[in-house]
This record gives sequence, C-alpha cells and structure tokens, in this order.
Amino acid sequence: MKKVLVLEDEASIRSFVVINLKRSGYEPIEAATGAEALEQLRKNPDIRVALLDIMLPDIDGFEVCRQIRATDSKIGIIMLTARTQEMDKVTGLMTGADDYVTKPFSPTELTARIDALYRRLGGDVSEEAAEITSGPFRLNVRNRTLEKDGQRIKLTQVEYSIMKMFMDNPGKALSREDILNAVWGRNYFGELKIVDVNIRRLRIKVEDDPTNPTYITTVWGYGYKWGF
Ligand code: CA
Repeated sequence: MKKVLVLEDEASIRSFVVINLKRSGYEPIEAATGAEALEQLRKNPDIRVALLDIMLPDIDGFEVCRQIRATDSKIGIIMLTARTQEMDKVTGLMTGADDYVTKPFSPTELTARIDALYRRLGGDVSEEAAEITSGPFRLNVRNRTLEKDGQRIKLTQVEYSIMKMFMDNPGKALSREDILNAVWGRNYFGELKIVDVNIRRLRIKVEDDPTNPTYITTVWGYGYKWGF
C-alpha cells in the first residue's frame, strides 16, 4: 500500500482527507500534532508522501517540514494552506515542500497532486542512461542524486525532476508550461508561479552566484534554459 502521512489537527478535515485517500487506494497514516507526525514517520519509513497542515497546536507545519527535510530529501511534501496564507505558500516551498494545496480543496485536486508526486517518486529508469553530465554537474539517474565538482547537492524530488529535464535538454529554451506539465503533470491544478519558486530555490543550490545565474538562465517572457 502507498502510505501517505496526513498531518492535520482539525478532525473534520483530517477524516475528509483520510476517506478520500482510502477511496483512491492510498493508506493514510494520521497525525494531529507535529510531534505525532514526526513519530509516525519514524515508525513508518515507507511513507513516501506527507501532507502537512501549517497551523498546529504544537510546532507549525513549516517546522515539521524543515525537520523532515533535515534527514530525508526524498519524501514528497505537500503543504495544506489556508487561502489567507499567500506568503506562507512561498515560505513553505522555500523550506523544502514540493507542492501546496489551498483549503478548501476538492478530493480530486488533492489526489491528483499526490498521484503526481508518486509518479515522480517511482518511474522506471532502467532504459535510461545511468548518468548525465553537463559542465561541472553529474546527475545520477538511478540514485537521483546531483553532484557539482564532485560535491553532492541535496535536491528535493521536484528539484531533481527539473534538473533532469534541463540536463536532458541542454541549450534548449523550455517554457514554464513545459516544465509545469513535465514535472507536476498535466492534471496539475496550480499556478505557473510554482515553477519560478522552484527555479529560484534550485539556483541557490546550483549556481556559483544565484543573483547572477549562468547555468539556469531566464528566457524572458518564456521560461528557462540550461546552458553555459
Ligand atoms: Ca490547523
């Protein structure tokens, strides 16, 4: 069973999510506090996607996200945000979440996001080259890891997928829509802005000088390009 952690302190929202996840073939693992969520993750190392509410009785969802990411760069993380938390969305992504959904969300929307994350986490790579190199970068497709000048760069699943798309298409301008469709899936309900947020975070990790990017360059009014 595909386990999904559901961290939400409001029982009504949590049971709504749980029922819909079960209906979609997932096995939800429930938590009502940040501490419970971290405990469940320790007990269930096979949880591959976590849904994190932000406003919680103990620590907030961002802190939970930060603590998960400190030891696990592979798990998919979706933040559950309230409509009034526009800035929180961006902050959440900057602390290592892969995606967010805004409450109230439909069951279809939520499961589409989880499905998309799961697709990215899985995937058959046996047909592909095990390694893609480009300049100082070396992307290991089997381990889903990136090195720059031999130094490991920690990537989230989303960042890895974007890097792979770039390195598969060196020198080619990729539109933001192309990136959104390839990485988040065609059923993604969100906004193009999520591409920019992730690119910004990726630049901090891969560029020598993120304010003056030379590897991931902007193609104005269109998207981004990998090339130097
Ligand atoms: Ca809450």
